[in-house]
Amino acid sequence: MRINKYIAQAGVASRRKADELIANGNVKVNGLILKEPGYDVVTGDVVEVNGRRIEAEEKKVYILLNKPVGYITSVSDDRDRLTVMDLVQDVDARIFPVGRLDYNTSGMLIMTNDGDFAYTLSHPKHEMTKTYRAVVAGVLSNEKCAKLREGVDIGGFVTSKAKVEIVKGHPRNTVVDITIHEGKNRQVRKMFKAVGNNVQSLERIAIGDVRLGRLAEGHYRKLTREEIEYFK
Ligand code: URA
Repeated sequence: MRINKYIAQAGVASRRKADELIANGNVKVNGLILKEPGYDVVTGDVVEVNGRRIEAEEKKVYILLNKPVGYITSVSDDRDRLTVMDLVQDVDARIFPVGRLDYNTSGMLIMTNDGDFAYTLSHPKHEMTKTYRAVVAGVLSNEKCAKLREGVDIGGFVTSKAKVEIVKGHPRNTVVDITIHEGKNRQVRKMFKAVGNNVQSLERIAIGDVRLGRLAEGHYRKLTREEIEYFK
């Protein structure tokens, strides 16, 4: 974060006043008087204004991103693949994704810099439901739907009750909405596989009552105040 913003967020001065403080030599970073007005403060920097150490309280940011296929849900990647951070570069806060979506899954992902919020939202105790729209190969019979609703074994784990609604049937594939409570690794793909239908595409369309809506892929919006309160 740029030094003048950092000083402003610490509640010491406005950004303009912060620029003056820097120009007058009243700001030190890591013990040295700062000469560079455009300096970017990084984690671990010790910032002093008039000899007093300050710390910026970063404004809390809550974002709903429509993740496209082909991005990993991670802050960084040691294999240099695209991450969701590449899609939110203009957000001026140290946000991170809450929970995860597979590389091949698109849809709703919440990102924030509020650790408590992220913890609450992802804690199993809160049983936040997740709804996915899947396109699966073949016909999904009523019997298979009933099995998915009751719970299927996905390899050492039997899923709890799910909501399953056929959106559109076709002899070659079926569009289906499924709402689950847990978040096991690749759970939805494994559930359909367990009844013999491979997932061809998967999109998360809602978390709890908050829906992805008409947000274009790769775009994001801020959560509304009501949505933030709902997740808390
Ligand atoms: N279930 C999956 O199989 N993949 C996801 O990304 C999310 C849920």
